[in-house]
Amino acid sequence: MTQESPTPLGAMYINGRFEPAQSGETFVSTNPINGEPVAVIPFGDERDARRAVDAAAAAFPAWSRLSAAARAKHIHRVADALERRRDEIALLITMEEGKPSREAQGELQLSIDSLRWYAEESRRAYGAWIPDPIPGRRLLTQRMPVGVCGAIIPWNVPCAMIFRKAAPALAAGCTMVLKPAEATSYIALKVAEVFAEAEFPAGVMNFVTGKSSAIGNVFLTDMRVRKISFTGSTEVGRLLMRGAAEQIKRVSMELGGNAPVILFDDCDLDATIRAVSTLKFLNAGQACIGANRIYVQSGIYDEVARRLADHAQTMKVGDGSQAGVAMGPLIDMKAVEKVEELVGDAVRQGANVRAGGSRIQGEAYEKGSFYAPTVLSEVSMKARLHEEEIFGPVAALYSFESEDQVIEMANAVPYGLSAYLFTENMDRALRVGERLESGMVGINETRLGAAEAPFGGVKMSGIGREGGREGLEEYLETKLLAIRVRE
Ligand code: NAD
Repeated sequence: MTQESPTPLGAMYINGRFEPAQSGETFVSTNPINGEPVAVIPFGDERDARRAVDAAAAAFPAWSRLSAAARAKHIHRVADALERRRDEIALLITMEEGKPSREAQGELQLSIDSLRWYAEESRRAYGAWIPDPIPGRRLLTQRMPVGVCGAIIPWNVPCAMIFRKAAPALAAGCTMVLKPAEATSYIALKVAEVFAEAEFPAGVMNFVTGKSSAIGNVFLTDMRVRKISFTGSTEVGRLLMRGAAEQIKRVSMELGGNAPVILFDDCDLDATIRAVSTLKFLNAGQACIGANRIYVQSGIYDEVARRLADHAQTMKVGDGSQAGVAMGPLIDMKAVEKVEELVGDAVRQGANVRAGGSRIQGEAYEKGSFYAPTVLSEVSMKARLHEEEIFGPVAALYSFESEDQVIEMANAVPYGLSAYLFTENMDRALRVGERLESGMVGINETRLGAAEAPFGGVKMSGIGREGGREGLEEYLETKLLAIRVRE
Protein backbone atom coordinates (compact mmCIF):
# COMPACT_ATOMS: atom_id res chain seq x y z
CA MET A 1 0.00 0.00 0.00
CA THR A 2 1.73 3.17 -1.12
CA GLN A 3 0.71 6.82 -0.77
CA GLU A 4 0.52 7.19 -4.57
CA SER A 5 -1.90 4.29 -5.01
CA PRO A 6 -3.94 3.83 -1.84
CA THR A 7 -5.78 0.54 -1.64
CA PRO A 8 -9.47 1.22 -2.35
CA LEU A 9 -11.87 0.89 0.53
CA GLY A 10 -14.99 -1.22 -0.09
CA ALA A 11 -18.31 -0.69 1.66
CA MET A 12 -21.18 -3.06 2.39
CA TYR A 13 -24.55 -2.28 0.84
CA ILE A 14 -27.43 -2.37 3.30
CA ASN A 15 -30.83 -0.79 2.79
CA GLY A 16 -29.58 1.20 -0.18
CA ARG A 17 -26.62 2.72 1.70
CA PHE A 18 -22.91 1.99 1.59
CA GLU A 19 -21.45 1.47 5.02
CA PRO A 20 -18.54 0.01 7.00
CA ALA A 21 -18.91 -2.88 9.46
CA GLN A 22 -20.54 -1.91 12.77
CA SER A 23 -17.37 -3.13 14.49
CA GLY A 24 -15.21 -0.92 12.27
CA GLU A 25 -13.06 -3.96 11.46
CA THR A 26 -11.66 -4.67 8.01
CA PHE A 27 -9.58 -7.21 6.09
CA VAL A 28 -7.62 -6.98 2.86
CA SER A 29 -8.34 -8.96 -0.31
CA THR A 30 -5.27 -9.72 -2.42
CA ASN A 31 -4.38 -10.37 -6.04
CA PRO A 32 -3.41 -14.03 -6.52
CA ILE A 33 -1.21 -13.08 -9.50
CA ASN A 34 1.24 -11.02 -7.42
CA GLY A 35 0.08 -11.02 -3.80
CA GLU A 36 -0.65 -7.27 -3.86
CA PRO A 37 -3.65 -5.82 -1.98
CA VAL A 38 -6.78 -5.28 -4.09
CA ALA A 39 -9.10 -3.62 -1.58
CA VAL A 40 -9.85 -3.11 2.09
CA ILE A 41 -13.10 -4.92 2.91
CA PRO A 42 -15.46 -4.43 5.89
CA PHE A 43 -15.30 -7.42 8.22
CA GLY A 44 -18.99 -7.61 9.06
CA ASP A 45 -20.53 -9.88 11.69
CA GLU A 46 -23.96 -10.77 13.16
CA ARG A 47 -24.91 -7.14 13.69
CA ASP A 48 -24.42 -6.23 10.04
CA ALA A 49 -26.16 -9.37 8.83
CA ARG A 50 -29.11 -8.65 11.13
CA ARG A 51 -29.41 -5.09 9.86
CA ALA A 52 -29.39 -6.40 6.30
CA VAL A 53 -32.12 -8.93 7.12
CA ASP A 54 -34.12 -6.09 8.77
CA ALA A 55 -33.83 -4.14 5.52
CA ALA A 56 -34.73 -7.11 3.31
CA ALA A 57 -37.75 -7.95 5.50
CA ALA A 58 -38.95 -4.32 5.47
CA ALA A 59 -38.58 -4.12 1.67
CA PHE A 60 -40.35 -7.43 1.00
CA PRO A 61 -44.04 -6.39 1.17
CA ALA A 62 -43.73 -3.57 -1.39
CA TRP A 63 -41.34 -5.45 -3.71
CA SER A 64 -43.38 -8.65 -3.71
CA ARG A 65 -46.59 -6.75 -4.44
CA LEU A 66 -45.19 -4.97 -7.47
CA SER A 67 -46.34 -6.50 -10.72
CA ALA A 68 -43.84 -8.85 -12.35
CA ALA A 69 -43.67 -6.37 -15.23
CA ALA A 70 -42.69 -3.55 -12.87
CA ARG A 71 -40.03 -5.70 -11.23
CA ALA A 72 -38.75 -6.60 -14.69
CA LYS A 73 -38.16 -2.90 -15.47
CA HIS A 74 -35.99 -2.53 -12.35
CA ILE A 75 -34.04 -5.70 -13.19
CA HIS A 76 -33.41 -4.61 -16.78
CA ARG A 77 -32.00 -1.35 -15.41
CA VAL A 78 -29.48 -3.37 -13.35
CA ALA A 79 -28.51 -5.23 -16.55
CA ASP A 80 -28.06 -1.88 -18.35
CA ALA A 81 -25.81 -0.58 -15.54
CA LEU A 82 -23.82 -3.82 -15.52
CA GLU A 83 -23.29 -3.56 -19.27
CA ARG A 84 -21.88 -0.06 -18.78
CA ARG A 85 -19.39 -1.32 -16.20
CA ARG A 86 -18.68 -4.62 -17.87
CA ASP A 87 -14.97 -4.10 -18.69
CA GLU A 88 -14.17 -2.58 -15.31
CA ILE A 89 -15.72 -5.50 -13.40
CA ALA A 90 -14.20 -8.09 -15.75
CA LEU A 91 -10.75 -6.63 -15.07
CA LEU A 92 -11.42 -6.71 -11.34
CA ILE A 93 -12.36 -10.42 -11.62
CA THR A 94 -8.95 -11.09 -13.18
CA MET A 95 -7.25 -9.09 -10.42
CA GLU A 96 -9.07 -10.52 -7.41
CA GLU A 97 -9.86 -14.06 -8.59
CA GLY A 98 -7.11 -14.61 -11.18
CA LYS A 99 -9.04 -15.96 -14.20
CA PRO A 100 -8.02 -14.74 -17.67
CA SER A 101 -9.93 -11.86 -19.32
CA ARG A 102 -11.85 -14.02 -21.75
CA GLU A 103 -13.26 -16.15 -18.92
CA ALA A 104 -14.02 -13.03 -16.85
CA GLN A 105 -15.92 -11.54 -19.79
CA GLY A 106 -17.87 -14.80 -20.03
CA GLU A 107 -18.99 -14.32 -16.42
CA LEU A 108 -20.23 -10.83 -17.23
CA GLN A 109 -22.18 -12.14 -20.21
CA LEU A 110 -23.83 -14.87 -18.12
CA SER A 111 -24.68 -12.26 -15.46
CA ILE A 112 -26.37 -9.95 -17.97
CA ASP A 113 -28.17 -12.85 -19.68
CA SER A 114 -29.48 -14.09 -16.31
CA LEU A 115 -30.85 -10.68 -15.38
CA ARG A 116 -32.60 -10.18 -18.70
CA TRP A 117 -33.95 -13.72 -19.01
CA TYR A 118 -35.39 -13.87 -15.47
CA ALA A 119 -36.80 -10.35 -15.72
CA GLU A 120 -39.03 -11.73 -18.48
CA GLU A 121 -39.54 -15.27 -17.18
CA SER A 122 -41.15 -14.13 -13.92
CA ARG A 123 -43.94 -12.61 -16.02
CA ARG A 124 -44.82 -16.19 -16.90
CA ALA A 125 -45.00 -17.53 -13.32
CA TYR A 126 -48.55 -18.71 -13.91
CA GLY A 127 -50.81 -20.43 -11.45
CA ALA A 128 -53.60 -22.83 -12.47
CA TRP A 129 -57.36 -23.26 -12.40
CA ILE A 130 -57.82 -26.82 -11.22
CA PRO A 131 -60.82 -28.96 -12.30
CA ASP A 132 -62.71 -29.38 -9.03
CA PRO A 133 -64.53 -32.60 -8.01
CA ILE A 134 -66.78 -30.68 -5.57
CA PRO A 135 -69.66 -28.58 -6.97
CA GLY A 136 -69.89 -25.03 -5.66
CA ARG A 137 -66.14 -24.66 -5.18
CA ARG A 138 -63.28 -23.44 -7.35
CA LEU A 139 -59.61 -24.36 -6.86
CA LEU A 140 -56.94 -21.91 -7.99
CA THR A 141 -53.21 -21.78 -7.46
CA GLN A 142 -51.09 -18.69 -7.26
CA ARG A 143 -47.27 -18.50 -7.36
CA MET A 144 -45.90 -16.58 -4.39
CA PRO A 145 -42.34 -15.45 -3.64
CA VAL A 146 -40.66 -17.42 -0.85
CA GLY A 147 -39.68 -14.29 1.12
CA VAL A 148 -36.32 -13.04 2.38
CA CYS A 149 -33.46 -15.16 1.00
CA GLY A 150 -29.93 -15.51 2.34
CA ALA A 151 -27.38 -16.24 -0.40
CA ILE A 152 -23.82 -17.46 0.11
CA ILE A 153 -21.45 -17.79 -2.84
CA PRO A 154 -17.90 -19.09 -3.46
CA TRP A 155 -14.92 -17.24 -4.93
CA ASN A 156 -14.50 -19.20 -8.18
CA VAL A 157 -17.42 -17.59 -10.05
CA PRO A 158 -17.56 -14.33 -8.09
CA CYS A 159 -19.80 -12.24 -10.35
CA ALA A 160 -22.08 -14.57 -12.32
CA MET A 161 -22.90 -16.50 -9.16
CA ILE A 162 -24.42 -13.35 -7.67
CA PHE A 163 -26.84 -13.08 -10.57
CA ARG A 164 -27.55 -16.82 -10.86
CA LYS A 165 -29.17 -16.37 -7.43
CA ALA A 166 -30.28 -12.74 -7.37
CA ALA A 167 -31.89 -12.60 -10.83
CA PRO A 168 -34.48 -15.37 -10.27
CA ALA A 169 -35.02 -14.42 -6.61
CA LEU A 170 -35.67 -10.74 -7.32
CA ALA A 171 -37.75 -11.53 -10.39
CA ALA A 172 -39.91 -13.87 -8.30
CA GLY A 173 -40.54 -11.07 -5.79
CA CYS A 174 -38.11 -12.16 -3.07
CA THR A 175 -35.63 -9.86 -1.35
CA MET A 176 -32.06 -10.95 -0.65
CA VAL A 177 -29.00 -10.61 1.55
CA LEU A 178 -25.88 -11.91 -0.18
CA LYS A 179 -22.57 -12.86 1.37
CA PRO A 180 -19.64 -13.29 -1.05
CA ALA A 181 -16.51 -15.35 -0.34
CA GLU A 182 -13.83 -13.45 1.57
CA ALA A 183 -11.28 -13.72 -1.26
CA THR A 184 -13.51 -12.05 -3.85
CA SER A 185 -15.48 -9.61 -1.71
CA TYR A 186 -14.50 -6.50 -3.65
CA ILE A 187 -16.11 -7.82 -6.83
CA ALA A 188 -19.40 -8.21 -4.94
CA LEU A 189 -19.15 -4.72 -3.50
CA LYS A 190 -18.60 -3.32 -7.00
CA VAL A 191 -21.68 -5.23 -8.14
CA ALA A 192 -23.56 -3.58 -5.24
CA GLU A 193 -22.65 -0.23 -6.82
CA VAL A 194 -24.35 -1.41 -9.99
CA PHE A 195 -27.60 -1.89 -8.07
CA ALA A 196 -27.22 1.60 -6.57
CA GLU A 197 -26.57 3.12 -10.00
CA ALA A 198 -29.69 1.43 -11.32
CA GLU A 199 -31.62 3.08 -8.44
CA PHE A 200 -32.82 -0.29 -7.29
CA PRO A 201 -35.35 0.06 -4.43
CA ALA A 202 -33.58 0.24 -1.05
CA GLY A 203 -33.38 -2.98 0.96
CA VAL A 204 -34.40 -5.33 -1.85
CA MET A 205 -30.81 -6.44 -2.54
CA ASN A 206 -28.18 -6.21 0.22
CA PHE A 207 -24.50 -7.21 0.35
CA VAL A 208 -22.73 -8.12 3.59
CA THR A 209 -19.02 -9.06 3.75
CA GLY A 210 -16.99 -10.52 6.61
CA LYS A 211 -17.16 -13.38 9.05
CA SER A 212 -18.84 -16.24 7.23
CA SER A 213 -19.97 -18.31 10.21
CA ALA A 214 -21.47 -15.24 11.96
CA ILE A 215 -23.35 -14.07 8.86
CA GLY A 216 -24.41 -17.63 8.02
CA ASN A 217 -25.67 -18.04 11.55
CA VAL A 218 -28.02 -15.08 11.19
CA PHE A 219 -29.41 -16.62 7.99
CA LEU A 220 -29.99 -19.88 9.87
CA THR A 221 -31.50 -18.51 13.06
CA ASP A 222 -33.55 -15.51 11.91
CA MET A 223 -37.07 -16.75 11.25
CA ARG A 224 -37.63 -14.02 8.66
CA VAL A 225 -35.09 -15.64 6.34
CA ARG A 226 -37.19 -18.27 4.58
CA LYS A 227 -34.63 -19.66 2.20
CA ILE A 228 -30.90 -20.23 1.97
CA SER A 229 -29.29 -20.51 -1.42
CA PHE A 230 -25.74 -21.79 -1.15
CA THR A 231 -22.99 -22.52 -3.64
CA GLY A 232 -19.76 -23.93 -2.31
CA SER A 233 -18.22 -27.05 -0.86
CA THR A 234 -20.24 -30.11 0.12
CA GLU A 235 -18.81 -29.81 3.63
CA VAL A 236 -20.20 -26.31 4.27
CA GLY A 237 -23.43 -27.18 2.41
CA ARG A 238 -24.03 -30.05 4.82
CA LEU A 239 -23.47 -27.75 7.78
CA LEU A 240 -25.98 -25.23 6.44
CA MET A 241 -28.59 -27.90 5.64
CA ARG A 242 -28.35 -29.17 9.19
CA GLY A 243 -28.80 -25.65 10.53
CA ALA A 244 -31.68 -24.89 8.16
CA ALA A 245 -33.56 -27.93 9.45
CA GLU A 246 -34.13 -26.17 12.76
CA GLN A 247 -36.55 -23.61 11.26
CA ILE A 248 -37.54 -25.77 8.25
CA LYS A 249 -36.07 -23.31 5.78
CA ARG A 250 -35.99 -24.01 2.10
CA VAL A 251 -32.53 -24.66 0.70
CA SER A 252 -30.85 -24.75 -2.68
CA MET A 253 -27.43 -26.40 -2.61
CA GLU A 254 -24.96 -26.15 -5.49
CA LEU A 255 -22.08 -28.19 -4.13
CA GLY A 256 -18.84 -29.82 -5.16
CA GLY A 257 -18.36 -31.87 -8.31
CA ASN A 258 -16.02 -34.67 -9.34
CA ALA A 259 -16.82 -34.90 -13.03
CA PRO A 260 -16.00 -37.96 -15.11
CA VAL A 261 -14.92 -37.29 -18.70
CA ILE A 262 -15.18 -40.37 -20.91
CA LEU A 263 -13.26 -40.61 -24.18
CA PHE A 264 -14.32 -43.53 -26.39
CA ASP A 265 -11.89 -44.64 -29.06
CA ASP A 266 -14.33 -43.62 -31.81
CA CYS A 267 -14.34 -39.94 -30.78
CA ASP A 268 -13.24 -37.10 -33.05
CA LEU A 269 -9.81 -36.89 -31.47
CA ASP A 270 -8.81 -33.36 -32.54
CA ALA A 271 -12.05 -31.79 -31.34
CA THR A 272 -12.03 -33.90 -28.17
CA ILE A 273 -8.48 -32.94 -27.16
CA ARG A 274 -9.34 -29.26 -27.69
CA ALA A 275 -12.54 -29.52 -25.63
CA VAL A 276 -11.02 -31.55 -22.78
CA SER A 277 -7.97 -29.26 -22.49
CA THR A 278 -10.18 -26.19 -22.35
CA LEU A 279 -12.46 -27.77 -19.76
CA LYS A 280 -9.60 -29.05 -17.62
CA PHE A 281 -7.66 -25.80 -17.41
CA LEU A 282 -10.70 -23.49 -17.18
CA ASN A 283 -10.11 -21.15 -14.24
CA ALA A 284 -6.90 -23.11 -13.50
CA GLY A 285 -9.03 -26.18 -12.81
CA GLN A 286 -11.06 -24.39 -10.14
CA ALA A 287 -14.47 -25.10 -11.59
CA CYS A 288 -17.22 -27.21 -10.03
CA ILE A 289 -17.93 -28.71 -13.48
CA GLY A 290 -14.21 -29.15 -14.25
CA ALA A 291 -12.74 -32.41 -15.60
CA ASN A 292 -11.74 -34.41 -12.55
CA ARG A 293 -11.48 -38.03 -13.74
CA ILE A 294 -10.55 -38.51 -17.39
CA TYR A 295 -11.35 -42.07 -18.50
CA VAL A 296 -9.77 -42.97 -21.84
CA GLN A 297 -10.52 -46.16 -23.79
CA SER A 298 -7.35 -48.24 -24.09
CA GLY A 299 -7.03 -47.96 -27.90
CA ILE A 300 -6.42 -44.19 -27.78
CA TYR A 301 -4.95 -43.89 -24.27
CA ASP A 302 -1.30 -43.27 -25.23
CA GLU A 303 -2.15 -40.79 -27.93
CA VAL A 304 -4.53 -38.85 -25.64
CA ALA A 305 -1.93 -38.72 -22.85
CA ARG A 306 0.72 -37.44 -25.26
CA ARG A 307 -1.49 -34.82 -26.88
CA LEU A 308 -2.93 -33.50 -23.61
CA ALA A 309 0.63 -33.24 -22.23
CA ASP A 310 1.80 -31.39 -25.37
CA HIS A 311 -1.08 -28.95 -24.95
CA ALA A 312 -0.36 -28.42 -21.23
CA GLN A 313 3.30 -27.70 -21.92
CA THR A 314 2.56 -25.00 -24.47
CA MET A 315 -0.03 -23.11 -22.43
CA LYS A 316 0.88 -19.56 -21.48
CA VAL A 317 0.34 -19.09 -17.75
CA GLY A 318 0.41 -15.74 -15.98
CA ASP A 319 -1.45 -12.47 -15.59
CA GLY A 320 -4.74 -13.09 -17.36
CA SER A 321 -5.22 -9.43 -18.25
CA GLN A 322 -2.41 -9.84 -20.79
CA ALA A 323 -2.95 -11.09 -24.30
CA GLY A 324 -2.37 -14.77 -24.96
CA VAL A 325 -2.47 -15.87 -21.31
CA ALA A 326 -4.57 -19.03 -21.19
CA MET A 327 -4.39 -19.79 -17.47
CA GLY A 328 -3.96 -17.76 -14.29
CA PRO A 329 -2.98 -18.64 -10.73
CA LEU A 330 -4.86 -20.64 -8.11
CA ILE A 331 -6.80 -18.58 -5.59
CA ASP A 332 -4.12 -18.77 -2.84
CA MET A 333 -1.12 -20.72 -1.57
CA LYS A 334 -3.31 -23.02 0.47
CA ALA A 335 -4.89 -24.18 -2.79
CA VAL A 336 -1.41 -24.75 -4.29
CA GLU A 337 -0.40 -26.84 -1.28
CA LYS A 338 -3.55 -28.95 -1.60
CA VAL A 339 -2.81 -29.67 -5.28
CA GLU A 340 0.80 -30.56 -4.37
CA GLU A 341 -0.49 -32.98 -1.78
CA LEU A 342 -2.90 -34.66 -4.22
CA VAL A 343 -0.27 -34.97 -6.97
CA GLY A 344 2.30 -36.32 -4.47
CA ASP A 345 -0.18 -38.94 -3.30
CA ALA A 346 -1.00 -40.00 -6.90
CA VAL A 347 2.68 -40.28 -7.83
CA ARG A 348 3.41 -42.38 -4.74
CA GLN A 349 0.65 -44.70 -5.97
CA GLY A 350 2.25 -45.12 -9.38
CA ALA A 351 1.06 -42.18 -11.54
CA ASN A 352 3.40 -40.89 -14.27
CA VAL A 353 3.88 -37.13 -14.61
CA ARG A 354 3.54 -36.37 -18.35
CA ALA A 355 3.51 -32.56 -17.96
CA GLY A 356 3.89 -30.08 -15.11
CA GLY A 357 3.67 -31.69 -11.68
CA SER A 358 5.05 -28.73 -9.70
CA ARG A 359 4.81 -25.00 -8.97
CA ILE A 360 6.06 -22.75 -11.75
CA GLN A 361 9.56 -21.36 -11.29
CA GLY A 362 10.70 -17.89 -12.36
CA GLU A 363 10.52 -14.29 -11.24
CA ALA A 364 7.12 -13.58 -12.80
CA TYR A 365 5.56 -16.34 -10.70
CA GLU A 366 7.33 -15.80 -7.37
CA LYS A 367 4.67 -13.71 -5.68
CA GLY A 368 1.62 -15.44 -7.11
CA SER A 369 -0.03 -18.78 -6.38
CA PHE A 370 0.82 -20.58 -9.62
CA TYR A 371 0.84 -24.31 -10.33
CA ALA A 372 1.85 -25.70 -13.73
CA PRO A 373 -0.74 -27.28 -16.04
CA THR A 374 -0.26 -30.94 -15.22
CA VAL A 375 -1.06 -34.25 -16.89
CA LEU A 376 -0.82 -37.53 -14.95
CA SER A 377 -1.27 -40.92 -16.60
CA GLU A 378 -1.68 -44.43 -15.13
CA VAL A 379 -3.40 -42.94 -12.07
CA SER A 380 -4.62 -45.47 -9.52
CA MET A 381 -8.32 -45.41 -8.67
CA LYS A 382 -7.15 -45.57 -5.07
CA ALA A 383 -5.41 -42.19 -5.38
CA ARG A 384 -7.04 -39.37 -3.43
CA LEU A 385 -7.64 -37.36 -6.59
CA HIS A 386 -10.03 -40.00 -7.85
CA GLU A 387 -12.24 -39.57 -4.78
CA GLU A 388 -11.77 -35.85 -4.14
CA GLU A 389 -12.48 -32.75 -6.14
CA ILE A 390 -9.02 -31.65 -7.37
CA PHE A 391 -9.82 -27.93 -7.87
CA GLY A 392 -6.51 -27.40 -9.63
CA PRO A 393 -4.91 -27.73 -13.10
CA VAL A 394 -4.27 -31.47 -12.95
CA ALA A 395 -5.57 -33.81 -15.66
CA ALA A 396 -5.70 -37.33 -14.20
CA LEU A 397 -6.00 -40.13 -16.78
CA TYR A 398 -7.43 -43.60 -16.21
CA SER A 399 -7.78 -46.39 -18.76
CA PHE A 400 -10.88 -48.50 -19.49
CA GLU A 401 -12.02 -51.20 -21.93
CA SER A 402 -15.83 -51.38 -22.10
CA GLU A 403 -18.97 -49.25 -21.73
CA ASP A 404 -20.18 -51.17 -18.69
CA GLN A 405 -16.83 -50.88 -16.98
CA VAL A 406 -16.52 -47.12 -17.48
CA ILE A 407 -20.10 -46.45 -16.33
CA GLU A 408 -19.32 -48.30 -13.11
CA MET A 409 -16.10 -46.31 -12.65
CA ALA A 410 -17.84 -43.01 -13.39
CA ASN A 411 -20.66 -43.69 -10.92
CA ALA A 412 -18.34 -44.96 -8.17
CA VAL A 413 -18.07 -41.62 -6.33
CA PRO A 414 -20.67 -39.88 -4.15
CA TYR A 415 -20.78 -36.76 -6.37
CA GLY A 416 -22.95 -36.14 -9.43
CA LEU A 417 -22.78 -32.61 -10.82
CA SER A 418 -21.60 -32.90 -14.42
CA ALA A 419 -20.29 -35.69 -16.67
CA TYR A 420 -18.98 -35.64 -20.23
CA LEU A 421 -18.61 -38.20 -22.96
CA PHE A 422 -16.99 -38.12 -26.36
CA THR A 423 -17.98 -40.52 -29.14
CA GLU A 424 -19.16 -40.33 -32.74
CA ASN A 425 -21.66 -43.13 -32.07
CA MET A 426 -24.96 -41.52 -31.02
CA ASP A 427 -26.51 -44.80 -29.85
CA ARG A 428 -23.61 -45.19 -27.47
CA ALA A 429 -23.80 -41.53 -26.40
CA LEU A 430 -27.43 -41.93 -25.35
CA ARG A 431 -26.94 -45.37 -23.80
CA VAL A 432 -24.07 -44.16 -21.64
CA GLY A 433 -25.37 -40.64 -21.02
CA GLU A 434 -28.63 -41.98 -19.61
CA ARG A 435 -26.83 -44.23 -17.13
CA LEU A 436 -24.43 -41.62 -15.73
CA GLU A 437 -25.45 -40.44 -12.27
CA SER A 438 -25.14 -36.69 -12.71
CA GLY A 439 -27.33 -33.62 -13.05
CA MET A 440 -25.78 -32.65 -16.40
CA VAL A 441 -24.18 -34.61 -19.23
CA GLY A 442 -22.14 -33.02 -22.00
CA ILE A 443 -22.07 -35.08 -25.21
CA ASN A 444 -19.13 -33.96 -27.38
CA GLU A 445 -19.70 -30.63 -25.60
CA THR A 446 -18.24 -29.16 -22.42
CA ARG A 447 -20.10 -25.83 -22.16
CA LEU A 448 -23.11 -26.47 -19.93
CA GLY A 449 -24.20 -23.06 -18.68
CA ALA A 450 -26.88 -20.75 -20.08
CA ALA A 451 -29.42 -18.50 -18.42
CA GLU A 452 -32.11 -20.63 -20.11
CA ALA A 453 -30.89 -24.05 -18.91
CA PRO A 454 -31.14 -25.82 -15.52
CA PHE A 455 -27.76 -26.30 -13.84
CA GLY A 456 -27.23 -28.48 -10.77
CA GLY A 457 -26.31 -31.82 -9.35
CA VAL A 458 -27.51 -35.08 -7.83
CA LYS A 459 -26.12 -37.17 -4.97
CA MET A 460 -23.74 -35.14 -2.79
CA SER A 461 -23.40 -32.43 -5.45
CA GLY A 462 -26.57 -30.74 -4.34
CA ILE A 463 -30.26 -30.09 -4.31
CA GLY A 464 -32.13 -27.76 -6.65
CA ARG A 465 -31.25 -26.05 -9.91
CA GLU A 466 -29.98 -22.67 -11.00
CA GLY A 467 -30.89 -21.35 -14.44
CA GLY A 468 -33.92 -21.94 -16.60
CA ARG A 469 -37.51 -22.30 -15.50
CA GLU A 470 -36.32 -24.58 -12.67
CA GLY A 471 -34.18 -21.77 -11.28
CA LEU A 472 -37.26 -19.57 -10.82
CA GLU A 473 -39.16 -22.39 -9.08
CA GLU A 474 -36.50 -22.34 -6.35
CA TYR A 475 -37.84 -18.94 -5.24
CA LEU A 476 -41.56 -19.61 -5.57
CA GLU A 477 -44.18 -21.21 -3.35
CA THR A 478 -47.54 -22.48 -4.60
CA LYS A 479 -50.55 -21.13 -2.74
CA LEU A 480 -53.94 -22.81 -3.10
CA LEU A 481 -57.09 -20.68 -3.13
CA ALA A 482 -60.28 -22.67 -2.49
CA ILE A 483 -63.29 -20.47 -3.30
CA ARG A 484 -66.98 -21.05 -2.51
CA VAL A 485 -69.20 -20.15 -5.45
CA ARG A 486 -73.02 -19.92 -5.28
CA GLU A 487 -74.16 -21.80 -8.39
P1 NAD B 1 -16.60 -23.02 0.65
O1 NAD B 1 -17.68 -23.99 0.95
O2 NAD B 1 -15.38 -23.05 1.48
O3 NAD B 1 -17.15 -21.53 0.73
C1 NAD B 1 -18.30 -21.12 0.04
C2 NAD B 1 -18.92 -19.96 0.76
O4 NAD B 1 -19.37 -20.40 2.04
C3 NAD B 1 -17.97 -18.79 1.02
O5 NAD B 1 -18.67 -17.58 0.87
C4 NAD B 1 -17.59 -19.00 2.47
O6 NAD B 1 -17.21 -17.81 3.12
C5 NAD B 1 -18.89 -19.52 3.04
N1 NAD B 1 -18.78 -20.25 4.30
C6 NAD B 1 -17.76 -21.02 4.75
N2 NAD B 1 -18.06 -21.50 5.97
C7 NAD B 1 -19.28 -21.04 6.30
C8 NAD B 1 -20.13 -21.18 7.43
N3 NAD B 1 -19.78 -21.91 8.47
N4 NAD B 1 -21.33 -20.57 7.41
C9 NAD B 1 -21.71 -19.82 6.36
N5 NAD B 1 -20.94 -19.64 5.27
C10 NAD B 1 -19.75 -20.25 5.23
O7 NAD B 1 -16.26 -23.21 -0.90
P2 NAD B 1 -15.19 -22.43 -1.77
O8 NAD B 1 -13.85 -22.99 -1.49
O9 NAD B 1 -15.39 -20.97 -1.67
O10 NAD B 1 -15.68 -22.83 -3.25
C11 NAD B 1 -15.31 -23.99 -3.88
C12 NAD B 1 -16.40 -25.04 -3.81
O11 NAD B 1 -17.59 -24.55 -4.39
C13 NAD B 1 -16.05 -26.27 -4.61
O12 NAD B 1 -16.39 -27.43 -3.90
C14 NAD B 1 -16.90 -26.14 -5.87
O13 NAD B 1 -17.19 -27.34 -6.51
C15 NAD B 1 -18.12 -25.51 -5.31
N6 NAD B 1 -18.89 -24.88 -6.38
C16 NAD B 1 -20.06 -25.48 -6.79
C17 NAD B 1 -20.80 -24.93 -7.82
C18 NAD B 1 -22.09 -25.56 -8.28
O14 NAD B 1 -22.83 -24.89 -8.99
N7 NAD B 1 -22.41 -26.78 -7.90
C19 NAD B 1 -20.35 -23.78 -8.46
C20 NAD B 1 -19.15 -23.20 -8.04
C21 NAD B 1 -18.44 -23.77 -7.00
